[in-house]
Amino acid sequence: TVHRADMQPRTPTHCPYCALQCGMNLVPGPAGVAVAERPDFPVNRGALCGKGRTATALLSPAARLTEPLVRTASGDLAPASWAEALDRVAEGLARARTAGGADACGVFGGGGLTNEKAYALGKFARVVLGTSQIDYNGRFCMASAAVGQQRAFGLDRGLPFPLADVARTGCVILVGSNLAETMPPALRYLTELKANGGRLVVVDPRRTRTAEQADLHLAPRPGTDLALALGLLHLVVAEGHLDEAFIGERTSGWEQARAAAMAHWPERVERITGVPVPLLREAVRMFCTAGSSMVLTARGPEQQSKGTDTVGAWINLCLATGRAGRPLSGYGALTGQGNGQGGREHGQKADQLPGYRKLTDPAARRHVAEVWGVDPDRLPGPGRSAYELLEALGSDVRALLLMGSNPVVSAPRAAHVEERLRALDFLAVADVVLSETAALADVVLPVTQWAEETGTVTNLEGRVLLRRQAVAPPPGVRSDLAVLGELAARLGVEKGFPADPEEVFGELRRASAGGPADYSGITYRALAAGEGVFWPCPAPEEEQSGSTGPDPDGRPDPDGRPDPDGRPDPDGWPEPGRRPGPDGPLRGGPLRDGPLPDGPFPGGPSPAGPLPGKPLTDSPLPDVRRPPDTPAGTPRLFLDRFATEDGRARFAPVTHRPAAEEPDAEYPVFLTTGRVLAHYQSGAQTRRVAELDAAEPGPFVQLHPRLAARIGVAEGERIAVVSRRGRAVAPARISTAIRADTVFMPFHWPGEGRANTLTNPALDPASRMPEFKVCAVRVERAEG
Ligand code: SF4
Repeated sequence: TVHRADMQPRTPTHCPYCALQCGMNLVPGPAGVAVAERPDFPVNRGALCGKGRTATALLSPAARLTEPLVRTASGDLAPASWAEALDRVAEGLARARTAGGADACGVFGGGGLTNEKAYALGKFARVVLGTSQIDYNGRFCMASAAVGQQRAFGLDRGLPFPLADVARTGCVILVGSNLAETMPPALRYLTELKANGGRLVVVDPRRTRTAEQADLHLAPRPGTDLALALGLLHLVVAEGHLDEAFIGERTSGWEQARAAAMAHWPERVERITGVPVPLLREAVRMFCTAGSSMVLTARGPEQQSKGTDTVGAWINLCLATGRAGRPLSGYGALTGQGNGQGGREHGQKADQLPGYRKLTDPAARRHVAEVWGVDPDRLPGPGRSAYELLEALGSDVRALLLMGSNPVVSAPRAAHVEERLRALDFLAVADVVLSETAALADVVLPVTQWAEETGTVTNLEGRVLLRRQAVAPPPGVRSDLAVLGELAARLGVEKGFPADPEEVFGELRRASAGGPADYSGITYRALAAGEGVFWPCPAPEEEQSGSTGPDPDGRPDPDGRPDPDGRPDPDGWPEPGRRPGPDGPLRGGPLRDGPLPDGPFPGGPSPAGPLPGKPLTDSPLPDVRRPPDTPAGTPRLFLDRFATEDGRARFAPVTHRPAAEEPDAEYPVFLTTGRVLAHYQSGAQTRRVAELDAAEPGPFVQLHPRLAARIGVAEGERIAVVSRRGRAVAPARISTAIRADTVFMPFHWPGEGRANTLTNPALDPASRMPEFKVCAVRVERAEG
């Protein structure tokens, strides 16, 4: 039973899982707390997938850690007091620092941590430990899209427009995203796009449930998305679809990009990608004849050793056709992890300071050092990227503090990563559950999770949201912020690490002020109004000279407690059209294979608005709803200028190159990996939810009937997949929805079916993203 702790009748909050950050209400229920619909939150309008609907199962003490654990002399993990556990962590880190210098301590964060935790973790690494060795698992998620957008636009925000714009454009090319399974409520935007007369092109080597919705499905060989984009750009030029005025006025670098595209004529691209020329032409026709259009990418093209260039090629397509920096047009990346966006903005990345500032920028260092009250010259420089940091464990890096990540399952070449973790002198893991990585630790710290704490997250649109505490954590559990404060004190830094998330957010606002991701104008009060605030949102000028800490005017408490001045609870904002929804039954799709709902999305009809195909200029933009007198921030970026020094977007001079590992005689088949509907990331949470586990209880290998026949495997029989890095075994799932030269494995499970045993850690040279999506394997019948 969940400990309710004076629970409010209804607490509006957000799902603990993916980057859509669906709104939900938490209400008292038979087992303590239950999920109820929250139709007033505009992104999901009440709809939730099975993961969100069942998320309160994570709050059950039976599913989570409730006391610290320490490694005993006999090698077991045993319960310990908080004092003993924290002392052991401080000693382990201090010992490594004394023996090997500050960089002998590493810190590994997670894309599920709130903004406040990500900020505090980055500050802890650089101020308390003085180490440069910090990065996070978001490096495995969106790093290529981030660098690609930085290069092209001077700024990276997953989507530079609200998701609502997707339903109103004329054509979407969706590259390497199976959002029907990874974030099902987002499918409504594609359904509405089509209902409005728009076209959907899906690029994916598999005919996924998302691809089944497409007007046109292109199924390239894994790792050839870059060539595909170049081929489309070639056809744009050849068939007269260039927007030369836009190129001249708002871009630079076109000639080099043009030359690269012209070297990728359609027949050559067909040979590289396997996509027939007529389909390439049809995609260009759909994209260019619509009045407005978008390219959206996800992990498919990004998790490659040329992911940054691949993103650049898709951005080039948008720029050459004038489909960027204009209403209802543009490039966007669909971030994956719950706070993948905010988690990369506030300092847990190896190369960045809060506010998305560069760690190598002297002015940025001075600004953040002043907020932190430290000497800027003593701030360490950039450290290793996530995989490189994991590789250095047990050699240069001797002790590691890890928060909210499970690399034993989610990192590439996972068996090697597991070895490196075991080679450490000291490993401390702060987590909610005893993940496969936590099970290796010397000390495990049980920390609070979504509904047990208040904090902010930033969804894939750059919309900053308030997740509120609805229940008390079990006794014996502490917040990550409190843990960092206790460790800092034990390591000699008494101040600067408060446990109160709003106080941390106040400091984050000051640290981000003036940076690319400027949160200085965002307050918990504005967020409590419910619909979020898009960054950048600078503070009004009069505030900039003063404190941006806790609001002095007695605003309502975001936890819903009455304001001392008698103001109404912010949940009760009397705004027309924004009434609290009934706590009614939940809607959601099936947890695994089965037809998707037809017709309009059940969250409600598309709001009235202009139809796709309208002119690119002078378009009234749809509203982003918000309560009166709260800032909206900046829902749409780049409409006037891009964030580069000269305001122009930059074409990327990119050209095709093969994957780091291509099939050969020994390993003749491509492996690609991904997610399934019932599970999230390493599965550490969702595998513990009975309904999700029952829906998808284990790994599988999806393969084409021709390949299955060649190796003599029938449906459900065990199949071994072998790469240069190891071997995984799982039942065969035979389907014509995948190319005959490719097998697919979901990566949510440990053990013999661990997909990441096989994956290739070849890194993108710019983003340091590993090549999760492409490697070479052989497949064979497994005994037993
Ligand atoms: Fe949660 Fe599902 Fe919504 Fe993602 S799509 S935020 S997992 S309910």
